[in-house]
Parts: sequence; C-alpha cells; structure tokens
Amino acid sequence: MDAVSKLISAAGHALGPKGVITDPKEIEPWVTDWRGRVHGSSPAIFAPASTEEVAAIVRLAAEHRVPLVPQGGNTGMVAGATPAADGSQILLSMRRMNRIHAISADNRLAVAEAGVVLATLHEAANDIGMRFPLTLGARGSCTIGGLTSTNAGGTQVLRFGTMRSLVAGVEAVLPDGSIHDGLTGLKKDNRGYSLDQLLIGAEGTLGVITAVALRLVPAVAARAVAWAGVESPARALDLLRFLEARTNAIEGFELVPQDSLELVLKHVPGTRAPLEGEHQWNVLVEATTADPGHDIAAELEQVLGGALQERIIGDAVIASSEAQAEAFWKIRDTISEAERAEGQTLAHDISVAVADMPRFIVEAAVEVERRFPGVIASGFGHLGDGNIHFHVRAAGHAAPDWYEREGAAITQLVDDLVTAAGGSISAEHGIGQLKLGEFERLAPPGRIHALRAIKRGLDPLEIMNPGKLVP
Ligand SMILES: Cc1cc2nc3c(=O)[nH]c(=O)nc-3n(C[C@H](O)[C@H](O)[C@H](O)COP(=O)(O)OP(=O)(O)OC[C@H]3O[C@@H](n4cnc5c(N)ncnc54)[C@H](O)[C@@H]3O)c2cc1C
Repeated sequence: MDAVSKLISAAGHALGPKGVITDPKEIEPWVTDWRGRVHGSSPAIFAPASTEEVAAIVRLAAEHRVPLVPQGGNTGMVAGATPAADGSQILLSMRRMNRIHAISADNRLAVAEAGVVLATLHEAANDIGMRFPLTLGARGSCTIGGLTSTNAGGTQVLRFGTMRSLVAGVEAVLPDGSIHDGLTGLKKDNRGYSLDQLLIGAEGTLGVITAVALRLVPAVAARAVAWAGVESPARALDLLRFLEARTNAIEGFELVPQDSLELVLKHVPGTRAPLEGEHQWNVLVEATTADPGHDIAAELEQVLGGALQERIIGDAVIASSEAQAEAFWKIRDTISEAERAEGQTLAHDISVAVADMPRFIVEAAVEVERRFPGVIASGFGHLGDGNIHFHVRAAGHAAPDWYEREGAAITQLVDDLVTAAGGSISAEHGIGQLKLGEFERLAPPGRIHALRAIKRGLDPLEIMNPGKLVP
C-alpha cells in the first residue's frame, strides 16, 4: 500500500464511515475551483466532526507525509482550496463542523465552528438582535473557516474592517497535531507573536482553523440607500469625505463607472438607471442605524443635498422603498455578470492607498488601453477601502482565445502598475495558486523570506496546503 492508501485506511478508523468519502461522484464537485479554472484530484475527502478528529487526522497526515487541503465552501477566488492534479493531496472538508457553540448579545460575541456558513451566522445573530457585520456574494455557501483563512472583506469593510478586525480569537490544529486555543476571550494577552493573527489570511498553510470567536454589533434598525452621479473618481472620494465629516452612518460606498451601469442595463433583466441623464461615474451609498428612532433616510437626504449644493455631485436619488434599495444594489452586484454576457473579461482585485485610488483608476485604464489597443479597462467597487475590481474587457472583435493569448501580459501590466503605485496585487482574495507566480515576481524579497521562514518553522513536513500562498 502507498502512503495515501495507508492514510485513507487509518483515517477510516479515526473518523468512522461518515468521516471518509471515497466515492468519486461525491468527490468530483469539490476538486475544481469556484471559477472553474483549476482542476485538481483527491482520492478521498476527510470530513471530521470535531476538533479532536481534526487533530487526529493532522497527526496521521504528518505520520504518512501526505498533504491536506482544508476546504470550506470552495467559493475562494484563487484556487486555494483546490488540491493538486496528481492525487497526492487529500481534501479536508470542514463542512460537518457547523455548530454555533455560543452567541451572546451581552458579550457581543459568537463562537462558531469553522464549517458554519456565513448566512447561518447572520440569521443566528439576527435572532438575538445583533449582526455579524461582514457580508459578500457567496454568503450562502462560504464558511467561517474559509472567510478567516482568506481574511475576507466585502461591502462593509469601510465601517467594520475585514475579518482581521472581526475575529476575537481562533482555535486551530497546528501542523504537528497540537491544538491552539485562542477562544478564551482574553482582552489582554501579550505572550508574544499572535498565533490568531498569523492564522487569519494564512489560506490553510499553517494549520486547520476549527472554531472562531467573532465580534457582533447591534442589528440594523433601518437603512437608507442612495445613488449619486459624479464627474470623476476624485469627486467620488470627495463625496465620501464630505459624508464622513457629517454623519457616522455611512457603511457602504461603491464606485460604479457609467460604462458598467450601461452594461448592466443592457444585459441584466429588470434593471433601470437610478438617475435621469448621464454621469460619467456613479456612487452607491448605504447608511445604516441601529436606533429605531433615527430617521436615517432624512439624514442622508440632507447631507447629499449639501453635497449637491457644493457641486461635489451632479445629482442623487434616495431609494424610496426597500425594493428600490435592493434594485440599486443589484446594479452593483451584477456588474461582473453583465461583463461576462458582453464578452471576455479579465478581473483584478487590487488595492492602493485610498487617496491615490482616483488617479490610479484613470491613469491605469489609459495605460492599459494604450498598450493593448481595443480593450476597455475600468475600475469599480470599494473606493473607500482603496480596493477596486480593475477589469479589462476584450475588444468586440477579439478572438475566442483572447483570454489565453493576452491575459497573462495584461495582468502583468496591471500588477506592475499597482506595484509601482505601492499597492497590492491581491486586496481581498488572497494568493492561492492563481496569483502565486505574480506574487513571487513582484513581492519584496523580505516578505517572501519571512513567509517561507514561518512556513518552514510551523510546517516543516509541508503537510498543510503546499503549493499555495508561499512561493
Ligand atoms: C460570489 C462571490 C463573491 C465574493 N465576494 C467577495 C468579497 O466581496 N470579498 C472577499 O473578500 N471575498 C469574496 N469572495 C471570495 C471569498 O474569499 C470566499 O467566498 C470566502 O472567503 C471563502 O470561504 P470558503 O468557505 O468558500 O473557503 P474555501 O474556498 O473553501 O477556502 C478558501 C481558502 O481558505 C482555506 N480554508 C478553508 N477553510 C479552512 C479552515 N477551516 N482552516 C484553514 N484553512 C481553511 C482553504 O484551504 C483555501 O486556501 C467571493 C466569492 C464569491 C463566489
């Protein structure tokens, strides 16, 4: 028997029949990444149901020198949860660990196992008058372990930060099979390096997250959603600063180029332009309050009125109903879908300093369009976080293999421009497999050295998700 077969057999004893899946039909949906770009293979899926079972499996994997690939909902964007194609790695599904151990409005904390789906946590928090203030398009399938391991962001980062700010503690099984218990809720703990922080964003390369303590905030009593037209990204940022100086309620602030709006109107049924007349750029603003007595719509209307008077914006409209608020968000959320319907698109999830972003969006688009004639480049998304989705669309007449032929060169140009601007080639999605080459090409040597040293120190046998994140 080879090492992989020996491990599968030993895992059967440790986890029981429910914990080891070997039917290729059941394995098949989980070995390709969410975008369908990377196809892997795994002879089995291990599905432990407790932290002790995870520890047992990690110890066995170390003994047999067989790498494990932790997986939550498999919704990650960089193929971080996709095993190697040669069948030498085994998927470790965390989806059976889906209990919420504790949730308290008094403590403002929830302790959830790694396999709890984000939408389930949202519901549980809502039931006690609280909320977990992070959301994203994959909320119906992505898990707390995956969100923590990718340090995910979403549309509320402006006010509440990424997972790094929302995680109060992490429980994890380290590569030697020992259990790190960071769920104790200590407000002060200065015993050196923070293992919790090291595990956040580690993409499963330093251990298996088994449970997370998460910060909660009071539930939203009301929200107001507005759509504003501006003449440039710089004016959009002026608007954000104007709003922030006058209200603490701004929670969402998304930049939408007119070109993206037009694509949505063309391809997504049931969508309508929120404003009459053309504006080169648009902004979706969401303000929220936890106070039922607070007229948030009136407040947002008044502040936007001030921005109109000062000519920061050209026009604005506040959604008059929850249905209209949803319709505004639908425009923002379907940009990628509309682009796909229009033709081939190359996506980049990048960040630069917030103050530099307006200029970057304009200048990078000009440079990409100059170097690759016919393409259309534009940025949309979380302007207030200095993070946009910088997408490059093929010209209408582009060949079907445009993506394969030109994609890498265009991405290298975008990544060079981002790096020259002091930014990051991965703002939200991580490195995984898909960005590993560009990360190695562009990261400062010190960063790569530190990453490799940490990886070697904690996982000398390379059993935790090798081939991801660490070049
Ligand atoms: C429609 C859609 C919209 C999205 N929008 C956003 C967005 O706005 N902002 C954003 O930041 N991201 C976004 N994402 C990507 C986001 O990173 C993932 O949805 C989420 O963070 C991953 O959760 P998951 O459970 O699916 O993890 P997976 O995809 O299963 O895994 C992701 C990584 O984490 C590791 N991992 C998973 N679980 C564990 C664990 N328990 N212990 C250790 N390692 C683990 C995996 O090995 C892999 O490296 C979006 C994805 C989709 C599909």
